Amino acid sequence: MNRAELEAQRRQLEDALAAVFRTATAANHHDPGALSISGLGGCTRRAAYQLARYAPTDDHSHQEQRASHLGQATHDWVLPRLAAQLGHELTLVEHDVILPVRGLKIPGRLDLFTPAIGGGLLVDLKTHGYDQGDDGDEPSRARLLQLYGYATALRLMGYLIRAVAVVPMSRIHGGTSGVWIGEFGSKQEAFVDARVRDLLRHAKAPAFAPRDAHRGPGLDLTCDSCPYMTRCWPGAEPPRLPRCAPMPTSSPMPLATPKPPHRRGTGRRRRSTTWPRSVGPARADTRPTATKWRSKPPRAGSAWIKPARRSS
Ligand code: SF4
Repeated sequence: MNRAELEAQRRQLEDALAAVFRTATAANHHDPGALSISGLGGCTRRAAYQLARYAPTDDHSHQEQRASHLGQATHDWVLPRLAAQLGHELTLVEHDVILPVRGLKIPGRLDLFTPAIGGGLLVDLKTHGYDQGDDGDEPSRARLLQLYGYATALRLMGYLIRAVAVVPMSRIHGGTSGVWIGEFGSKQEAFVDARVRDLLRHAKAPAFAPRDAHRGPGLDLTCDSCPYMTRCWPGAEPPRLPRCAPMPTSSPMPLATPKPPHRRGTGRRRRSTTWPRSVGPARADTRPTATKWRSKPPRAGSAWIKPARRSS
């Protein structure tokens, strides 16, 4: 089998992998123009567009969204097992709820609710990448609004709920450092109600609603997947997709072009050569492996600088 055939097979395999994620995105595509409980604390302008029933301008159903699908797979594996450990028949797992508030019916899906801990605990599992965990600090306002939205919906359904928890879990090694638990009561319900009241006010003029520090396409992942991206940022460059290309870990660092050696003397025979300190041959072996000269050109695409030709 020659190299071209192997390369064609590698591409075929990568295409199939990408198709796995794209198919999952298309299958899970929800109505992007409808506000859900998970969006309560998100971008205010986006929620205002949704409440005002503006038609989405951008379709992201073809994106791979790999991290999101891997996060969902983690939920599907962990939550039923966690419910089994809690051992209570009233435990709810990935349960659909409706939040009735100020004349709206906002849908959502909670992760886990168990009456086995503290007389009623709502758990939200948040998966994250390698270095994105937190230290058990209070979750962000957006995350709290989402949690309290689920908890309010549950309470209105007749469940007794006294606390909410956020469980951060690494998608790399499964670590759950930074679990946070807070109480839930009328104060937290009022927080949700006030947020919905503000959103309804912004829905009267969504184009003037705050963007909440979201920086736009190509600079902010939330904007990159927003169904109102073009409406919100008219004329902006669309983000380059996919964003899931692996970062090279072993490609050489780009090097500054070394200065040629300074020659002494003008005779035919070279008497001595002095090198600038930064690139002198005495220091060459102390540089990291990735920055050493290569004896032959690398594959296309990697950085390589041809060493200066030295005459003998
Ligand atoms: S594009 Fe960004 S700033 Fe604009 S509505 Fe969407 S998430 Fe908000």
